[in-house]
Amino acid sequence: MRAREYDEDRFDRMRRIGWLDVGRLRASRCLVAGAGALGNEAVKCLALAGVGRIDVADDDSVAMSNLSRCALFREGDVGRGKAEALASRASEAFPWAEVAPIESRVQDIADWGYGAVLGCLDNVSARLCANSCAACAGVPYVDGATDGLRGKVQVYLPGGPCIECAMNDSHLRIADARFSCAGGGVPFAPKAAAEITTTSVVAAMQAREAMKILSGRRDLCVRGVSYYDGEAGTMETLGLQISRGCPNH
Ligand SMILES: [Zn+2]
Repeated sequence: MRAREYDEDRFDRMRRIGWLDVGRLRASRCLVAGAGALGNEAVKCLALAGVGRIDVADDDSVAMSNLSRCALFREGDVGRGKAEALASRASEAFPWAEVAPIESRVQDIADWGYGAVLGCLDNVSARLCANSCAACAGVPYVDGATDGLRGKVQVYLPGGPCIECAMNDSHLRIADARFSCAGGGVPFAPKAAAEITTTSVVAAMQAREAMKILSGRRDLCVRGVSYYDGEAGTMETLGLQISRGCPNH
């Protein structure tokens, strides 16, 4: 094969990674729950990697303050539904991928027939709901969260410890502290600090774990909770056991 023929295959460099199954990614359907900063980065990675069908769920709308961290949104998207804006912008940028909006909260999604679900959510109650729905449906769930320059990623695989297993009482007490970026009709809560580089790292880790799952290589997934500290430039993964008090087991 001549060099030019290698370069005509969009996924040629990915095919050189032994465990990565481009054909299985192409045939996969996954859900990105949350179309904000993490959701933008996750959709970008999944679409570039050739995941065939990506559903994006969010009931919030785009605010100007989202634009410092959302690569796919434009100023003209301010006020649009985040899910619809992200799906349409991703479809423009990555026309080979099928990206569809679900304009509702993760709590209202009935169909969990996905190969993997990525939690790109900004509040504990939605993450707990996505975790429970995934556990109930037997679907792997990859949760991501950021707080300033710190972030964490956790993979739930059916049969293993889940996101709720890793939560303590203080997490559960703030479970209802949900708020809208656009501030529409919901109680005010202080916004968490956020910037794009930590968002990119965390969402890329989520997409990479999803690519392992969709390639049929759950054995390669990170076990426990991976903590990233962008200020110190460090990452560590702490082990996790199924919690005896967790209702998902
Ligand atoms: Zn659990």
